[in-house]
Amino acid sequence: MKSWIEISSARLAENFRAIQAVAGQGVEALAVIKANAYGHGTTICAPVLAEAGAQWLGVSDVAEGEAVRTALPHSGIRVLVMCGMELADAPALVAHGLTPVVWTPEHIAALERAARSAGHRIQVHLEVDTGMGRQGAAPGEDLARTLEALADSRWVSCEGIMTHLCCSESAEAKITEEQRERFASALDQALAAGMRPEFVHLANTSAVDEGSTMQWIRDTAKSLGARAMVRIGFAIYGHCLEIEGEHAHAGALAPKVSPVLVWKTRIIGLRGVAAGATVGYGATFVATQPMRLALLPVGYADGYRRAASSGVGNGWVMIAGRRAPVVGRVSMNLTVVDVSGHADVQEGMEAVLLGEGVTAEDQARWSGTIAYDILCGIRANFELR
Ligand SMILES: *Cc1c(COP(=O)(O)O)cnc(C)c1O
Repeated sequence: MKSWIEISSARLAENFRAIQAVAGQGVEALAVIKANAYGHGTTICAPVLAEAGAQWLGVSDVAEGEAVRTALPHSGIRVLVMCGMELADAPALVAHGLTPVVWTPEHIAALERAARSAGHRIQVHLEVDTGMGRQGAAPGEDLARTLEALADSRWVSCEGIMTHLCCSESAEAKITEEQRERFASALDQALAAGMRPEFVHLANTSAVDEGSTMQWIRDTAKSLGARAMVRIGFAIYGHCLEIEGEHAHAGALAPKVSPVLVWKTRIIGLRGVAAGATVGYGATFVATQPMRLALLPVGYADGYRRAASSGVGNGWVMIAGRRAPVVGRVSMNLTVVDVSGHADVQEGMEAVLLGEGVTAEDQARWSGTIAYDILCGIRANFELR
């Protein structure tokens, strides 16, 4: 095995429970498992989260929704399909009992046809665009047309109304306040059109961690006779972004969750090189003294970022609890690390690519990206611990 991932099911479950506690009693915590559970494995994580009490899972598309149904047959767990729908997906959404996020009259019409021909109703969550600008109906005329389609439909019912915040990791984003106001007016509009949603939601990990919208969404839900829902991905896996801004404060969630994934490989070769030896493509690394180098069978094809190369991100792996810096360029399937002075290192020993001593946040820094991107990019085999 070139590299593998170990998932701590105990930590995953603990994180979920911690999130539920911070979100508050009566708030529904939806566990987001889109993108192969942020690289953690959908079919591994879904049963653990269901066991930990998750009533809702969030996926990106129909195919992921079907995978959840296969992993959890007969569970009745609710599955929100969050990243849009193709009109042709409507029959599969109905057949698998998935709950799509919708925002156009065309979505409603396609689902109405599919649900009528299947002979059972489908529930949907209506997305309002309050500033993210990707999906959702804009409050006003746009939203009015979709509300009309929902009011006219006999087989599609609006179970939830939601929006998505674009700057929730900022402690003082004016746009968050604006998004909240637009969402409030959209809720008024929906109520006037006869909608009686069971759930209202806008918060992701950073919104729960930062906290400033939480009381508002709880109060708003209560005033509508609905329940607040939070949609949490990143923190389920033990991560939170830094809260940004002049008045940044400690997060409510960050101290209560911990990473669940360790990504490992094994040393497949050791060699000593003399001063003057070059290592890797481009001969970007030249040894200035005799060195001992270890060969690892992972590279950028496995999601181990090329930016970890020496002279670029200057990444490292952990071997027997000590840092071993990357030497030269990470190549497609191979990476060389410096184990000079690690007297005890042998072929066959494990190297931690991501885990204790080398975090997803470290890798993100080397690569000029965010830890979300690092986690989703891992391509390895899975093991449940
Ligand atoms: C991915 C996603 C989330 C989860 O975001 P995290 O920051 O990972 O908690 C929530 N809502 C929507 C609509 C999403 O697409």
